[in-house]
Amino acid sequence: MKKPDIHAQMRRELEDKSLFEQARQYAFEYIDGIGDRSVYPDAAAIDHLSRFDEPLPEHPQSGADVLAMLNDCGAPATVAQTGGRYFGFVNGGVVPTALAARWMADAWDQNPALYVISPVVGQLEQVCERWLCDLLELPEGTAAGYVSGSSTATLCGLAAARGELLRRLDWDVNARGLFGAPAIRVIVSEQAHSSVFKALALLGLGRDRIERIPADGRGRIDASRIPVLDARSLLILQAGNVNTGAFDAFAEICDPVRKNDAWVHIDGAFGLWVKASTRRKYLARGIELADSWSVDGHKTLNTPYDCGIVLCRRRESLVAAMQASGAYISYSDERDPMMHVPEMSRRARAVDLWATLRYLGRSGVADLIDAMCDRAAQFADRLAAHGFRILNEVAFNQVLVAGKTPSQTRETLAAIQASGICWCGGTEWNGDPAIRISVSSWATTPDDVERSVTAFAAGIH
Ligand SMILES: *Cc1c(COP(=O)(O)O)cnc(C)c1O
Repeated sequence: MKKPDIHAQMRRELEDKSLFEQARQYAFEYIDGIGDRSVYPDAAAIDHLSRFDEPLPEHPQSGADVLAMLNDCGAPATVAQTGGRYFGFVNGGVVPTALAARWMADAWDQNPALYVISPVVGQLEQVCERWLCDLLELPEGTAAGYVSGSSTATLCGLAAARGELLRRLDWDVNARGLFGAPAIRVIVSEQAHSSVFKALALLGLGRDRIERIPADGRGRIDASRIPVLDARSLLILQAGNVNTGAFDAFAEICDPVRKNDAWVHIDGAFGLWVKASTRRKYLARGIELADSWSVDGHKTLNTPYDCGIVLCRRRESLVAAMQASGAYISYSDERDPMMHVPEMSRRARAVDLWATLRYLGRSGVADLIDAMCDRAAQFADRLAAHGFRILNEVAFNQVLVAGKTPSQTRETLAAIQASGICWCGGTEWNGDPAIRISVSSWATTPDDVERSVTAFAAGIH
């Protein structure tokens, strides 16, 4: 077979657009079918994934064939996360305007490392920074870095904390590293998210040398057990426990801690957005007292994936950590994006975030969050009526459910996961198995909840 002229082929594809029309058609079919398909791919669809196990092609293929394979073998094996009945982990749905904006930005293929490389993304990052401070009621001047998710955002926030706490002790961690450095104390709830422990390990703060504080029955850090902290202490709190959705008592905890110059980081991956809800913002009272925060766009805000944000009260602390330099250096008169994140080249994530916030506005974000919380409350009521035990106080979007016995819980979970009607994950609560429902998509309707409750009820009988 004669080797095709790859450059001529790509020029043709850009000119005639049929490849993009095809992609659009596949995407539209996917969107239209989402409500009717099994929420989790069946065994046949997963078996079919073995079609991808082929040798690397020797020569260029037709673009249409590449897309067809993705559509035929890939799409059926996707998890129907953008429908209304996926409640696994804390995975958000997607706001249509944000998805469409992302398609446009994909055509732009911008690299926002520096303002000069992409003025438009540089500008959108600045606007989002300002809007986030406003919406989340954070201190004016708080800096934002746009990263892949909360895991990285937490890593960045804790790196800023580590640098600042050591700088106060006359130790430049960027230059000298941690060997021989003065010790800093790290205090974390035993129920912190696994990504927090990972970040601490990556930063050389030692997963085993940190002080773990027990949580109360609702999954909040037990404030009475937090020791008196000083200027060499880092305290990590949580807005939204992954099991119960509970928020730590920020106002009560942060006041004394801040007076002593300790650094407080809040992991608010999915919970921080509650600040937009007038009905429920009381849950996050006092978050503005922290020094740094991590939050995800791709969870309860429903941006497309790859949208985490680190927020830091003092821009210099974040920039010093991310540039691994001792001081705030500047490449230009503009806000250079790469000063705020670990990466240089990356995707123009701020476009998705900007489109979501510009589209929803303040009241739209509030309506999204409130609807998720209302659906969670509906779940709890209806499941209780069917004899299930609700293990948490359902104030936010998480519902923790158990059957009458551990084995009934396990059987119900297995039945739900096999049902195709909805999908929930399992967890452990107080040593017993539990089913975790996370209502994190705008697309979940009251009817979706009713249909899902039916799947639960079928599992219990
Ligand atoms: C999801 C989650 C994380 C990790 O976020 P990623 O975006 O998956 O990296 C951290 N903390 C909490 C509380 C979470 O729910």
